Amino acid sequence: MKHRLQGMGMTSRRTRDRMVSRLRQQGISDPKVLAVMADIPRHVFVDEALESRAYEDTALPIGHNQTISQPYIVAKMTELLLEKRSLGRVLEIGTGCGYQTAILARLAEQVYTVERIAPLMKKARDLLWELDIKTVGFKHSDGGWGWPEHAPYDSILAAAAPAEIPEALLQQMAVGAVMVIPVGREGMQELHRVTRAEDGFIDEVIERVTFVPFLSGVSQ
Ligand code: SAH
Repeated sequence: MKHRLQGMGMTSRRTRDRMVSRLRQQGISDPKVLAVMADIPRHVFVDEALESRAYEDTALPIGHNQTISQPYIVAKMTELLLEKRSLGRVLEIGTGCGYQTAILARLAEQVYTVERIAPLMKKARDLLWELDIKTVGFKHSDGGWGWPEHAPYDSILAAAAPAEIPEALLQQMAVGAVMVIPVGREGMQELHRVTRAEDGFIDEVIERVTFVPFLSGVSQ
């Protein structure tokens, strides 16, 4: 892995800068988001065979029938969480390869991430350690239960789409917390931003999206 972290060097920095210009054109404007997207190498999160495609604006396979989210959606969700506030303590559901986790970790106080597929969770944990990102707690579990031991959270991000928002996630939000989550069945999902107010929840629909389904139970 070490050689991959150093390997692409300037090439990866240049392609990453191109990815960031594209994100700007797509409407991402938060300087903090653009800066971390320029900084975190994306190619080390995908298979070596796909490395040259890592900065394209597309989802790519990461094994176990799952995909790394496209750069635009990672940036968009992070920007939605950050608007006029700081991330604080974050709960992420669906670690996948850990790319979104790394982005969040650079902007948050602490990230707690839950993944239902054990080998994905372990690989992401090892990779983030190598990238010297050490403010992340990992859990192999069904994220439909959240991670109650560390609740309440200031921010929640889900990278898989449930048919309805799990009650446990709403319960684990602090007052003032924001959750960004895709909701709906395949082919008709929408990205929601839910804010917890003193007296209830404010639900905004942002845009149509395509995510892998939020599945229950765990896989070894
Ligand atoms: N941001 C990640 C997205 C991976 S795809 C990345 O860029 O790599 C979504 C992930 O959510 C998959 O790894 C899938 O296994 C996981 N997932 C789906 N349902 C889940 C659940 N109920 N609990 C935890 N993880 C879940």
